[in-house]
Amino acid sequence: PVDSEQLGQATWTFLHTMAAYYPERPSPSQMESMRTFLSTFSQFYPCWYCADAFREDMEINPPQVASRRKLSQWLCERHNVVNVRLGKGVFDCAKVDERWRDGPAD
Ligand code: FAD
Repeated sequence: PVDSEQLGQATWTFLHTMAAYYPERPSPSQMESMRTFLSTFSQFYPCWYCADAFREDMEINPPQVASRRKLSQWLCERHNVVNVRLGKGVFDCAKVDERWRDGPAD
């Protein structure tokens, strides 16, 4: 079994990486699939109080699926909402590609 911290780290890794490689110009069907994926994810994420809070946040802040950049920024903001709730530092969303796609510039 995994605890909610391990599950969280693994899941954020997956979600941010997925957003980092989402199309720059998604088709209408890709946008709809991403909306469906996020909605389904938020029903079955197996930390129930986390999932409840994520669904509530998504109702106020619906997924931005129009481009890779928009989805990455939206997800970064959602993660920051959780960070603040847990008393963790806020992540600088300007660095999201560096962290999850490109790596540090040398
Ligand atoms: P994590 O928060 O897991 O982050 C992993 C890495 O992501 C960090 O090391 C950093 O490099 C990077 N990162 C941090 N912030 C951002 C950001 N804003 N954008 C992009 N990258 C970033 N735990 C609870 O106790 N209560 C909850 O309600 C809760 N809700 C959750 C909801 C979801 C949808 C998910 C996926 C997880 C949730 N968790 C919750 C788990 C929690 O967010 C953390 O994953 C867990 O506490 C471990 O934290 P961590 O400090 O190791 O880093």
